[in-house]
Amino acid sequence: MSEMKAILLSASAPSFEQEQRFTEFIHREYGPDVSLEWVQDNSIVNGFQLKVGEKIYDWTREGLYEQLSRSVDKRKYAGKELIPLIKNALTDWEAEALPAEKGTVITVGDGIAHIKGLENAEYGEILVFESGIRGMVLDLTESLIGCIIFGDDEEILAGSSVRRTGRTASIPAGEAFLGRVVDALGLPIDGKGNIRARTYKPIEAKAPGIIDRQSVRDPLETGILSIDSMFPIGRGQRELIIGDRQTGKTAIAVDAIINQNGKNCICIYVAIGQKASSVAQLVETLRKHGAMEHTIVVAANASDAGPLQYIAPYAGCALGEYFMEQGKDVLIVYDDLSKHAVAYRAISLLLDRSPGREAYPGDVFYLHSRLLERSARLSDEKGGGSITALPIVETQDSDVSAYVPTNIISITDGQIYLESDLFFSGQRPAVNVGLSVSRVGGDAQTKAMKKAVGTLRLDLAQFREMEVFTQFSSDLDDATRDQLEYGQGLMQMLIQPQYNPYSQHQMVVMLVSALSHAMQKIRQDDIHRFLTELTADFENMHEEICRKIDAEGDFSDADKDTIVRFAKEFAEKFYV
Ligand code: ATP
Ligand code: MG
Repeated sequence: MSEMKAILLSASAPSFEQEQRFTEFIHREYGPDVSLEWVQDNSIVNGFQLKVGEKIYDWTREGLYEQLSRSVDKRKYAGKELIPLIKNALTDWEAEALPAEKGTVITVGDGIAHIKGLENAEYGEILVFESGIRGMVLDLTESLIGCIIFGDDEEILAGSSVRRTGRTASIPAGEAFLGRVVDALGLPIDGKGNIRARTYKPIEAKAPGIIDRQSVRDPLETGILSIDSMFPIGRGQRELIIGDRQTGKTAIAVDAIINQNGKNCICIYVAIGQKASSVAQLVETLRKHGAMEHTIVVAANASDAGPLQYIAPYAGCALGEYFMEQGKDVLIVYDDLSKHAVAYRAISLLLDRSPGREAYPGDVFYLHSRLLERSARLSDEKGGGSITALPIVETQDSDVSAYVPTNIISITDGQIYLESDLFFSGQRPAVNVGLSVSRVGGDAQTKAMKKAVGTLRLDLAQFREMEVFTQFSSDLDDATRDQLEYGQGLMQMLIQPQYNPYSQHQMVVMLVSALSHAMQKIRQDDIHRFLTELTADFENMHEEICRKIDAEGDFSDADKDTIVRFAKEFAEKFYV
């Protein structure tokens, strides 16, 4: 390593005390081996400039003024007393090191620039191009730096210069983001004007450690019967929604968001690589159902540059962390991570990284593990906030053993598997009960739901086997036919229209009634109507039981008997 030297520039020589102070500063910052040398520079009036390696400390009057005005952010302090703020800024003031390195763009295209120079640039650092467009360092080789560009790469010319900022990428965050649609950089794209940020959050942050976490303990209710009963999700959990295209994946996430109305849970929907029109439609749906008030939409659409699609989920997560650190509960949907992986694959190939399985780069697992590890339920000492993640993955032809799906299955705490066949047969949401699991959510499920769900999964498994078995036989004995009808009834019960979340007590009444075989005499196509009318009637007659289930999350054996009796009587009268 070459010996480092600090060069002090000024018009007139420093006094002995000044030189002492600079030497002290250098030794403190860079160690005792760095020596100080003074060089006369008549262009520097009013002060000193100190060059150490590639860094410049500006102690000239202009430099000081600039740094001071930066630290007293005018927007942030609008309307406050300025003098005490300036005093504060002065007492806390320390010279910033401004990386003064400049690099040159060698090639640019496809949202990627290769840069020469900038020897000290770091992985993930933000660079600024001459036209003001920003980029992020994503590849460091001996001779060149690979940089992804957040904007139109046509405005960047080969041969133009590029400068370091010394900062890693971050996104503005704050309460004002609720109800808004922003791009991957946190800029509004809903035409509703600027968003006042409270702070900036780094888009790549370290996941909370083991000590800072606690296990999930509160349920995150989706309002979808098949999920809340059999695959319950806890706050802080990561539950994958996986299925072929057009199987109702987004619908589940949207219903879960709508169900958080009035439940003290902030929702973030990250759209990656989707059509802008689909995202607009989704925002409209959320707004119509009053869910936009507690929701932020981060969108990097299919027409946006690959780099924006790549950082969108991290940016969304950073926004979520802002709220989690204040002790709030957050639900974040990544729709979808297959497109995210594809965007990253394109970037990696353009950066000349060697392709691996399915042409994805080797670090595609890390791409999603570092994202999903940031979901957590924080310990009470850390405020007890949480981020629950619902990543979505699209499969091709139901192939869950493809590279990206297997990766994400292994990172998450369970998956809700949606099946095309079920979807097209009218079973919607098309949850495959056999292949879906939820690993930790059971701890968070309410007692009421645990009691009500009873043997549902088992009964459905039995039904599926029997269905296959009896597919081709025409003459069934009565017991078998009853069993089949019972199973079909349960499947009918699980059909639930979109935007129609059930409350706890509705689910309990339906489950308890169905599992007590009260629907045995109801025709299949009447089951939905039967259950709707039954719950409505029960609500009228037994309001106190319903209220108890919703408030305490529990019910007694006597309550259960009441429900069963009510359901059986209701069934008797249903066709008369
Ligand atoms: P893509 O792969 O295109 O993202 P997706 O898997 O996200 O599709 P959705 O867009 O959620 O699927 O749903 C596909 C269609 O199915 C939509 O028209 C939606 O309205 C309908 N749908 C989804 N869930 C239900 C449901 N429970 N009941 C009735 N229709 C539904
Ligand atoms: Mg979708």
